[in-house]
Amino acid sequence: MKAIFIHKAKDLRISEIEPQALNKNEVRVKIERGGICGSDLHYFNHGGFGTNFLKEPMILGHEVSGTILETGNDVRGLDVGDLVAISPSQPCDNCTFCRQGHTNHCIDMKFYGSAMLFPHIQGAFRQEMVVNTSQCVLSNDITSAQAAMVEPLSVVLHALKRVGQIFSKNFLVCGAGPIGLLTVQCLKASGASNIVVTDIVDEPLKLAEKLGASETFNVRTGKDIFKKYSGNKGWFDTMFECSGSESALMEAVSAIKPRGLVVQLGMSGNMKIPMQFITTKEIKLLGSFRFHDEFFEGVQCISSGTIDVQPLISHAIPLSNAELAFETANDRCKSMKVQIIF
Ligand code: ZN
Repeated sequence: MKAIFIHKAKDLRISEIEPQALNKNEVRVKIERGGICGSDLHYFNHGGFGTNFLKEPMILGHEVSGTILETGNDVRGLDVGDLVAISPSQPCDNCTFCRQGHTNHCIDMKFYGSAMLFPHIQGAFRQEMVVNTSQCVLSNDITSAQAAMVEPLSVVLHALKRVGQIFSKNFLVCGAGPIGLLTVQCLKASGASNIVVTDIVDEPLKLAEKLGASETFNVRTGKDIFKKYSGNKGWFDTMFECSGSESALMEAVSAIKPRGLVVQLGMSGNMKIPMQFITTKEIKLLGSFRFHDEFFEGVQCISSGTIDVQPLISHAIPLSNAELAFETANDRCKSMKVQIIF
């Protein structure tokens, strides 16, 4: 069977791998769809990001869905033919943080397609994969394309839980990529009063408007947006920084209310922090990283129709054209979420 390996920046190869052995609590899954995430693109474009750089070839991918081909002897509640959304998160369930329920901080976390540890944790962009049942969420009432969106949706659901009250508040979302737009949809569904979205590209901002943004701004072509909202010490209750851009954080913080909240979701290594504003306006800075039980809620949000992920899926490209899929995902004027068909 074939898998998508990244060897170094711009060196993507489709290679043959051997099938894995199946244990009693595991299922063998035929991978259907895999979404290309920002972190996959960092490995593809730069060989890594932050402290995660490639030291050996690694199978990419962590946003996947698939159909069960075979079940281990002890598997109950999952059958051959079932569609599952697959959580890429493999916490140990035994360390201090796992025992406290904070499995996203597991000290022995094995997250698919991550070069954080060495040997690297191999990813899910492959035609077949053996998966523990604890990572599978039954998704027979949604499509494989929707099921492959559960992972990024879970990231957003986790961030929203960290925030608390959404109803009737004013939000600023910086960065209109898939995470930013899922944030817009979730805020809208949760009763946010105003959702202002910024980006440096027009096309994703147009989609943001369709998905519930009350106002959008291209900060590359018209920067006075933060001036507009920075009078009287700021207007936004909460900002979601989804771009990983230092300038977004530095410029936007003037528009956050005193005692407001900045949620940092974007990842791009170390960023400068506008500490003077944070101190004098008593702004809270909140990190949010991955997810835990939100993965199960993500399937529910999609199957109930609360969140419609379909408009975000801009492309579905076959495995044989994997390189084209990555180059397409790089073009933010043309693509939003690019999925690979396995
Ligand atoms: Zn753990």
